Amino acid sequence: MKPFTYEQVLDPAEAVARVTGSPEAVYVAGGTNLVDHLKLGVATPDVLVDVSRLPLDEVEGLEDGGLRIGAAVRNADLAAHAAVRRGYPVLAQALLAGASGQIRNVATTGGNLLQRTRCVYFQDVTTPCNKREPGSGCPAREGFQRSAAVLGASEHCVATHPSDMAVALAALDAVVVVLGTDGERRVPMSDFHRLPGDRPELDTTLAQGELVTAVELPALPDASRSAYRKVRDRASYAFALVSVAAVLDASGGTVHDVRIALGGVAHKPWRASVAEERLRGGPATEEAFRAAAEAELAAAVPLDGNAFKVPMAVNTITATLRNLAGGSR
Ligand SMILES: Cc1cc2nc3c(=O)[nH]c(=O)nc-3n(C[C@H](O)[C@H](O)[C@H](O)COP(=O)(O)OP(=O)(O)OC[C@H]3O[C@@H](n4cnc5c(N)ncnc54)[C@H](O)[C@@H]3O)c2cc1C
Ligand code: SF4
Repeated sequence: MKPFTYEQVLDPAEAVARVTGSPEAVYVAGGTNLVDHLKLGVATPDVLVDVSRLPLDEVEGLEDGGLRIGAAVRNADLAAHAAVRRGYPVLAQALLAGASGQIRNVATTGGNLLQRTRCVYFQDVTTPCNKREPGSGCPAREGFQRSAAVLGASEHCVATHPSDMAVALAALDAVVVVLGTDGERRVPMSDFHRLPGDRPELDTTLAQGELVTAVELPALPDASRSAYRKVRDRASYAFALVSVAAVLDASGGTVHDVRIALGGVAHKPWRASVAEERLRGGPATEEAFRAAAEAELAAAVPLDGNAFKVPMAVNTITATLRNLAGGSR
Protein backbone atom coordinates (compact mmCIF):
# COMPACT_ATOMS: atom_id res chain seq x y z
CA MET A 1 0.00 0.00 0.00
CA LYS A 2 1.28 3.47 -0.84
CA PRO A 3 2.15 5.51 2.31
CA PHE A 4 -0.20 8.37 3.18
CA THR A 5 -0.74 10.83 5.98
CA TYR A 6 -3.93 11.04 8.01
CA GLU A 7 -5.50 14.27 9.25
CA GLN A 8 -8.59 14.96 11.29
CA VAL A 9 -10.53 18.17 10.73
CA LEU A 10 -13.38 19.59 12.78
CA ASP A 11 -14.56 22.35 10.46
CA PRO A 12 -16.12 21.70 7.00
CA ALA A 13 -14.46 24.74 5.38
CA GLU A 14 -11.08 23.61 6.69
CA ALA A 15 -11.69 20.15 5.18
CA VAL A 16 -12.54 21.68 1.79
CA ALA A 17 -9.46 23.92 1.83
CA ARG A 18 -7.24 20.97 2.71
CA VAL A 19 -8.48 18.65 -0.06
CA THR A 20 -8.99 21.30 -2.76
CA GLY A 21 -5.43 22.49 -2.31
CA SER A 22 -3.97 19.05 -2.81
CA PRO A 23 -5.05 16.94 -5.82
CA GLU A 24 -3.80 13.74 -4.17
CA ALA A 25 -5.81 14.31 -0.95
CA VAL A 26 -9.16 12.56 -0.41
CA TYR A 27 -11.88 12.55 2.23
CA VAL A 28 -12.42 9.49 4.38
CA ALA A 29 -15.60 9.03 6.42
CA GLY A 30 -16.51 5.51 7.64
CA GLY A 31 -13.72 4.10 5.47
CA THR A 32 -15.75 0.99 4.55
CA ASN A 33 -15.22 1.55 0.83
CA LEU A 34 -12.10 3.70 0.68
CA VAL A 35 -9.95 1.52 2.94
CA ASP A 36 -10.65 -1.52 0.73
CA HIS A 37 -9.50 0.54 -2.24
CA LEU A 38 -6.31 1.58 -0.42
CA LYS A 39 -5.52 -2.06 0.29
CA LEU A 40 -6.29 -3.13 -3.29
CA GLY A 41 -4.25 -0.29 -4.79
CA VAL A 42 -7.36 1.12 -6.54
CA ALA A 43 -6.97 4.40 -4.62
CA THR A 44 -3.50 5.85 -4.01
CA PRO A 45 -3.92 9.18 -2.19
CA ASP A 46 -1.15 11.05 -0.36
CA VAL A 47 -3.41 12.45 2.35
CA LEU A 48 -6.60 11.17 4.00
CA VAL A 49 -8.73 13.94 5.50
CA ASP A 50 -11.11 12.40 8.03
CA VAL A 51 -14.56 14.03 7.80
CA SER A 52 -16.37 11.57 10.07
CA ARG A 53 -16.16 13.90 13.08
CA LEU A 54 -17.36 17.05 11.39
CA PRO A 55 -20.48 18.56 13.00
CA LEU A 56 -22.64 17.06 10.25
CA ASP A 57 -24.19 14.20 12.20
CA GLU A 58 -27.73 15.50 12.79
CA VAL A 59 -31.07 14.66 11.19
CA GLU A 60 -33.24 17.78 11.40
CA GLY A 61 -36.78 18.63 10.35
CA LEU A 62 -37.13 21.44 7.77
CA GLU A 63 -39.74 24.20 7.94
CA ASP A 64 -41.56 22.85 4.87
CA GLY A 65 -41.92 19.43 6.51
CA GLY A 66 -38.89 17.91 4.80
CA LEU A 67 -35.75 16.50 6.39
CA ARG A 68 -32.09 17.49 6.36
CA ILE A 69 -29.62 14.64 6.84
CA GLY A 70 -26.03 15.52 7.73
CA ALA A 71 -23.34 13.86 5.62
CA ALA A 72 -21.76 12.23 8.68
CA VAL A 73 -24.99 10.55 9.84
CA ARG A 74 -24.34 6.81 10.00
CA ASN A 75 -26.44 4.53 7.78
CA ALA A 76 -27.70 2.54 10.80
CA ASP A 77 -28.77 5.70 12.66
CA LEU A 78 -30.54 7.04 9.60
CA ALA A 79 -32.44 3.79 9.00
CA ALA A 80 -33.57 3.76 12.63
CA HIS A 81 -34.53 7.44 12.82
CA ALA A 82 -38.21 7.86 13.68
CA ALA A 83 -38.81 10.60 11.08
CA VAL A 84 -37.31 8.43 8.34
CA ARG A 85 -39.22 5.29 9.34
CA ARG A 86 -42.47 7.24 9.58
CA GLY A 87 -42.17 9.61 6.62
CA TYR A 88 -39.79 7.92 4.20
CA PRO A 89 -40.10 4.12 4.53
CA VAL A 90 -38.42 3.69 1.13
CA LEU A 91 -35.23 5.21 2.55
CA ALA A 92 -35.22 3.12 5.73
CA GLN A 93 -35.85 -0.04 3.69
CA ALA A 94 -33.10 0.79 1.18
CA LEU A 95 -30.56 1.41 3.92
CA LEU A 96 -31.43 -1.83 5.69
CA ALA A 97 -31.12 -3.72 2.39
CA GLY A 98 -27.48 -2.62 2.10
CA ALA A 99 -24.29 -4.20 3.43
CA SER A 100 -24.43 -5.61 6.99
CA GLY A 101 -25.32 -4.28 10.43
CA GLN A 102 -21.65 -3.81 11.28
CA ILE A 103 -20.93 -1.86 8.09
CA ARG A 104 -24.06 0.29 8.44
CA ASN A 105 -22.91 1.24 11.97
CA VAL A 106 -19.83 2.87 10.44
CA ALA A 107 -20.84 3.93 6.91
CA THR A 108 -22.02 7.51 6.46
CA THR A 109 -24.54 9.27 4.26
CA GLY A 110 -21.82 11.11 2.32
CA GLY A 111 -19.65 8.03 1.91
CA ASN A 112 -22.59 5.91 0.78
CA LEU A 113 -23.40 8.39 -2.00
CA LEU A 114 -19.76 8.46 -3.10
CA GLN A 115 -19.06 4.70 -2.93
CA ARG A 116 -17.58 3.36 -6.14
CA THR A 117 -18.69 0.58 -8.47
CA ARG A 118 -18.27 -3.07 -7.51
CA CYS A 119 -17.28 -4.01 -11.09
CA VAL A 120 -14.74 -6.82 -10.56
CA TYR A 121 -12.30 -5.35 -13.09
CA PHE A 122 -12.36 -1.95 -11.41
CA GLN A 123 -11.27 -3.60 -8.17
CA ASP A 124 -8.55 -5.75 -9.80
CA VAL A 125 -5.51 -3.61 -10.60
CA THR A 126 -4.01 -6.38 -12.74
CA THR A 127 -6.73 -5.83 -15.39
CA PRO A 128 -7.42 -2.84 -17.64
CA CYS A 129 -10.37 -0.62 -16.68
CA ASN A 130 -11.34 2.74 -18.18
CA LYS A 131 -12.81 3.90 -14.88
CA ARG A 132 -9.64 3.21 -12.89
CA GLU A 133 -7.16 3.96 -15.68
CA PRO A 134 -8.74 6.05 -18.45
CA GLY A 135 -8.03 4.74 -21.94
CA SER A 136 -6.98 1.25 -20.83
CA GLY A 137 -10.14 -0.54 -21.99
CA CYS A 138 -13.28 -2.17 -20.63
CA PRO A 139 -12.92 -5.94 -20.16
CA ALA A 140 -16.44 -6.16 -18.73
CA ARG A 141 -17.93 -5.73 -22.19
CA GLU A 142 -16.59 -9.17 -23.18
CA GLY A 143 -16.14 -10.65 -19.72
CA PHE A 144 -18.16 -10.93 -16.50
CA GLN A 145 -21.42 -9.10 -17.19
CA ARG A 146 -23.81 -10.23 -14.46
CA SER A 147 -23.57 -6.93 -12.58
CA ALA A 148 -23.32 -4.73 -15.68
CA ALA A 149 -25.66 -1.95 -16.78
CA VAL A 150 -28.53 -2.35 -19.26
CA LEU A 151 -29.49 1.35 -19.41
CA GLY A 152 -27.39 4.41 -20.19
CA ALA A 153 -24.06 2.56 -20.59
CA SER A 154 -21.39 3.49 -23.13
CA GLU A 155 -18.75 1.64 -25.11
CA HIS A 156 -16.27 2.89 -22.52
CA CYS A 157 -17.96 1.54 -19.39
CA VAL A 158 -20.92 -0.70 -18.45
CA ALA A 159 -20.54 -0.44 -14.67
CA THR A 160 -23.46 0.01 -12.28
CA HIS A 161 -23.72 2.22 -9.22
CA PRO A 162 -23.88 0.00 -6.14
CA SER A 163 -25.70 2.15 -3.56
CA ASP A 164 -29.17 1.16 -2.35
CA MET A 165 -29.60 4.41 -0.40
CA ALA A 166 -28.94 6.54 -3.49
CA VAL A 167 -31.77 4.82 -5.38
CA ALA A 168 -34.23 5.76 -2.65
CA LEU A 169 -32.89 9.32 -2.61
CA ALA A 170 -33.42 9.56 -6.38
CA ALA A 171 -37.07 8.50 -6.04
CA LEU A 172 -37.52 11.01 -3.22
CA ASP A 173 -36.23 13.94 -5.33
CA ALA A 174 -33.51 14.56 -2.73
CA VAL A 175 -31.10 17.46 -3.04
CA VAL A 176 -27.40 17.05 -2.19
CA VAL A 177 -25.85 20.02 -0.40
CA VAL A 178 -22.21 20.51 -1.38
CA LEU A 179 -19.52 22.84 -0.01
CA GLY A 180 -16.67 24.09 -2.19
CA THR A 181 -14.14 26.91 -1.95
CA ASP A 182 -16.74 29.28 -3.49
CA GLY A 183 -19.39 28.36 -0.93
CA GLU A 184 -22.40 26.07 -0.90
CA ARG A 185 -24.39 24.75 -3.84
CA ARG A 186 -27.38 22.42 -4.06
CA VAL A 187 -27.44 19.57 -6.55
CA PRO A 188 -30.62 17.59 -7.35
CA MET A 189 -30.00 13.85 -7.06
CA SER A 190 -30.73 13.46 -10.78
CA ASP A 191 -27.69 15.65 -11.53
CA PHE A 192 -25.36 14.32 -8.83
CA HIS A 193 -24.24 10.99 -10.34
CA ARG A 194 -23.47 10.81 -14.05
CA LEU A 195 -23.65 8.36 -16.95
CA PRO A 196 -20.26 7.09 -18.15
CA GLY A 197 -20.14 8.54 -21.68
CA ASP A 198 -16.49 8.92 -22.64
CA ARG A 199 -15.42 9.93 -19.10
CA PRO A 200 -16.26 6.84 -17.00
CA GLU A 201 -13.60 7.80 -14.45
CA LEU A 202 -16.01 10.49 -13.21
CA ASP A 203 -18.81 9.04 -11.07
CA THR A 204 -20.37 12.35 -10.09
CA THR A 205 -20.57 16.02 -11.05
CA LEU A 206 -18.59 17.06 -7.94
CA ALA A 207 -15.52 19.22 -8.53
CA GLN A 208 -12.26 18.10 -6.93
CA GLY A 209 -12.36 18.91 -3.23
CA GLU A 210 -16.10 19.56 -2.97
CA LEU A 211 -17.52 18.14 0.25
CA VAL A 212 -21.01 16.70 0.64
CA THR A 213 -22.38 18.31 3.80
CA ALA A 214 -26.02 17.18 3.78
CA VAL A 215 -28.89 15.63 1.86
CA GLU A 216 -32.30 17.28 1.96
CA LEU A 217 -35.58 15.44 1.42
CA PRO A 218 -38.70 17.34 0.39
CA ALA A 219 -41.90 16.56 2.30
CA LEU A 220 -44.05 13.85 0.74
CA PRO A 221 -47.80 14.33 0.19
CA ASP A 222 -49.81 12.61 2.95
CA ALA A 223 -51.39 10.16 0.51
CA SER A 224 -48.04 8.87 -0.77
CA ARG A 225 -46.77 5.43 0.08
CA SER A 226 -43.21 4.35 -0.60
CA ALA A 227 -41.19 1.14 -0.73
CA TYR A 228 -37.86 -0.34 -1.78
CA ARG A 229 -37.51 -3.79 -3.32
CA LYS A 230 -34.10 -5.35 -3.99
CA VAL A 231 -33.40 -8.48 -6.04
CA ARG A 232 -30.00 -10.06 -5.43
CA ASP A 233 -28.11 -13.34 -5.53
CA ARG A 234 -28.28 -13.88 -1.74
CA ALA A 235 -30.86 -12.81 0.81
CA SER A 236 -28.33 -10.55 2.53
CA TYR A 237 -24.87 -9.10 2.10
CA ALA A 238 -25.15 -8.84 -1.70
CA PHE A 239 -25.44 -5.91 -4.08
CA ALA A 240 -28.58 -5.41 -6.16
CA LEU A 241 -29.00 -7.15 -9.49
CA VAL A 242 -32.06 -4.94 -9.84
CA SER A 243 -33.73 -2.73 -7.28
CA VAL A 244 -36.73 -0.43 -7.33
CA ALA A 245 -37.52 2.56 -5.13
CA ALA A 246 -41.03 3.87 -5.62
CA VAL A 247 -43.26 6.58 -4.21
CA LEU A 248 -46.92 6.28 -5.21
CA ASP A 249 -50.06 8.32 -4.61
CA ALA A 250 -52.87 6.22 -6.05
CA SER A 251 -55.84 7.08 -3.87
CA GLY A 252 -59.19 6.19 -5.47
CA GLY A 253 -57.57 3.85 -7.97
CA THR A 254 -55.95 6.63 -10.05
CA VAL A 255 -52.23 7.40 -10.17
CA HIS A 256 -52.05 11.01 -8.97
CA ASP A 257 -48.29 10.95 -8.57
CA VAL A 258 -45.56 8.37 -8.95
CA ARG A 259 -41.80 8.42 -8.72
CA ILE A 260 -39.68 5.41 -9.59
CA ALA A 261 -35.90 4.92 -9.46
CA LEU A 262 -33.99 1.79 -10.42
CA GLY A 263 -30.75 0.40 -9.00
CA GLY A 264 -28.39 -2.21 -10.42
CA VAL A 265 -29.18 -1.29 -14.02
CA ALA A 266 -27.15 1.86 -14.76
CA HIS A 267 -24.05 3.89 -13.90
CA LYS A 268 -26.29 6.06 -11.69
CA PRO A 269 -29.62 5.61 -9.92
CA TRP A 270 -31.96 5.47 -12.92
CA ARG A 271 -35.03 7.64 -12.69
CA ALA A 272 -37.78 5.84 -14.64
CA SER A 273 -39.30 8.99 -16.11
CA VAL A 274 -40.82 7.23 -19.15
CA ALA A 275 -42.78 4.89 -16.87
CA GLU A 276 -43.77 7.76 -14.56
CA GLU A 277 -45.08 9.82 -17.46
CA ARG A 278 -47.20 6.92 -18.75
CA LEU A 279 -48.68 6.24 -15.34
CA ARG A 280 -49.64 9.75 -14.17
CA GLY A 281 -53.38 10.30 -14.39
CA GLY A 282 -54.09 6.70 -15.42
CA PRO A 283 -55.45 3.66 -13.62
CA ALA A 284 -53.48 2.10 -10.77
CA THR A 285 -53.72 -1.43 -12.13
CA GLU A 286 -51.20 -4.21 -12.57
CA GLU A 287 -51.65 -4.04 -16.36
CA ALA A 288 -50.84 -0.32 -16.37
CA PHE A 289 -47.81 -0.82 -14.09
CA ARG A 290 -46.45 -3.57 -16.34
CA ALA A 291 -47.01 -1.59 -19.55
CA ALA A 292 -45.22 1.41 -18.05
CA ALA A 293 -42.31 -0.74 -16.88
CA GLU A 294 -42.00 -2.30 -20.33
CA ALA A 295 -41.99 1.16 -21.90
CA GLU A 296 -39.14 2.21 -19.57
CA LEU A 297 -37.08 -0.88 -20.35
CA ALA A 298 -37.61 -0.50 -24.12
CA ALA A 299 -34.42 1.58 -24.10
CA ALA A 300 -32.37 -1.23 -22.54
CA VAL A 301 -29.25 -2.46 -24.37
CA PRO A 302 -28.36 -5.67 -22.57
CA LEU A 303 -25.24 -7.78 -23.01
CA ASP A 304 -25.35 -11.59 -23.23
CA GLY A 305 -24.57 -11.99 -19.53
CA ASN A 306 -27.09 -9.53 -18.12
CA ALA A 307 -30.12 -9.79 -20.44
CA PHE A 308 -32.05 -11.34 -17.54
CA LYS A 309 -32.11 -7.88 -15.93
CA VAL A 310 -34.64 -6.56 -18.45
CA PRO A 311 -37.57 -8.83 -17.50
CA MET A 312 -36.37 -8.73 -13.88
CA ALA A 313 -36.65 -4.94 -13.83
CA VAL A 314 -40.11 -5.05 -15.47
CA ASN A 315 -41.31 -7.60 -12.91
CA THR A 316 -39.78 -5.76 -9.95
CA ILE A 317 -41.29 -2.41 -10.93
CA THR A 318 -44.68 -4.06 -11.43
CA ALA A 319 -44.58 -5.90 -8.11
CA THR A 320 -43.44 -2.85 -6.14
CA LEU A 321 -46.19 -0.62 -7.54
CA ARG A 322 -48.84 -3.36 -7.17
CA ASN A 323 -48.00 -3.73 -3.48
CA LEU A 324 -48.03 0.03 -2.92
CA ALA A 325 -51.35 0.43 -4.72
CA GLY A 326 -52.75 -2.38 -2.62
CA GLY A 327 -51.86 -0.54 0.54
CA SER A 328 -48.73 -2.41 1.56
CA ARG A 329 -46.15 -0.19 3.22
C1 LIG B 1 -18.87 -6.25 2.25
C2 LIG B 1 -19.62 -5.03 1.85
C3 LIG B 1 -20.94 -5.15 1.41
C4 LIG B 1 -21.65 -4.00 1.03
N1 LIG B 1 -22.94 -4.12 0.58
C5 LIG B 1 -23.62 -3.00 0.19
C6 LIG B 1 -24.95 -3.08 -0.32
O1 LIG B 1 -25.54 -4.14 -0.41
N2 LIG B 1 -25.57 -1.92 -0.67
C7 LIG B 1 -24.96 -0.71 -0.55
O2 LIG B 1 -25.57 0.31 -0.88
N3 LIG B 1 -23.70 -0.60 -0.11
C8 LIG B 1 -23.03 -1.71 0.27
N4 LIG B 1 -21.75 -1.62 0.71
C9 LIG B 1 -21.06 -0.33 0.58
C10 LIG B 1 -21.22 0.55 1.78
O3 LIG B 1 -22.57 1.02 1.84
C11 LIG B 1 -20.26 1.71 1.58
O4 LIG B 1 -18.95 1.18 1.73
C12 LIG B 1 -20.47 2.81 2.56
O5 LIG B 1 -21.77 3.35 2.47
C13 LIG B 1 -19.46 3.93 2.33
O6 LIG B 1 -19.57 4.88 3.37
P1 LIG B 1 -18.29 5.32 4.21
O7 LIG B 1 -18.70 6.42 5.10
O8 LIG B 1 -17.63 4.14 4.85
O9 LIG B 1 -17.40 5.88 3.02
P2 LIG B 1 -15.81 5.91 2.84
O10 LIG B 1 -15.31 4.56 2.52
O11 LIG B 1 -15.18 6.64 3.96
O12 LIG B 1 -15.72 6.84 1.54
C14 LIG B 1 -16.25 6.43 0.30
C15 LIG B 1 -15.98 7.53 -0.72
O13 LIG B 1 -16.71 8.70 -0.39
C16 LIG B 1 -15.87 9.84 -0.27
N5 LIG B 1 -16.49 10.67 0.78
C17 LIG B 1 -16.83 10.26 2.02
N6 LIG B 1 -17.51 11.24 2.66
C18 LIG B 1 -17.58 12.29 1.79
C19 LIG B 1 -18.17 13.59 1.86
N7 LIG B 1 -18.84 14.02 2.93
N8 LIG B 1 -18.06 14.41 0.77
C20 LIG B 1 -17.41 14.00 -0.34
N9 LIG B 1 -16.82 12.77 -0.45
C21 LIG B 1 -16.92 11.93 0.59
C22 LIG B 1 -14.51 9.28 0.05
O14 LIG B 1 -13.46 10.14 -0.38
C23 LIG B 1 -14.52 7.99 -0.75
O15 LIG B 1 -14.17 8.24 -2.09
C24 LIG B 1 -21.02 -2.73 1.12
C25 LIG B 1 -19.71 -2.62 1.59
C26 LIG B 1 -19.01 -3.75 1.95
C27 LIG B 1 -17.61 -3.60 2.44
S1 SF4 C 1 -17.44 -1.61 -16.79
FE1 SF4 C 1 -16.44 0.31 -16.21
S2 SF4 C 1 -15.58 -0.21 -14.21
FE2 SF4 C 1 -15.99 -2.16 -15.23
S3 SF4 C 1 -14.13 -2.71 -16.43
FE3 SF4 C 1 -15.43 -1.53 -17.77
S4 SF4 C 1 -14.63 0.55 -17.54
FE4 SF4 C 1 -13.97 -0.57 -15.74
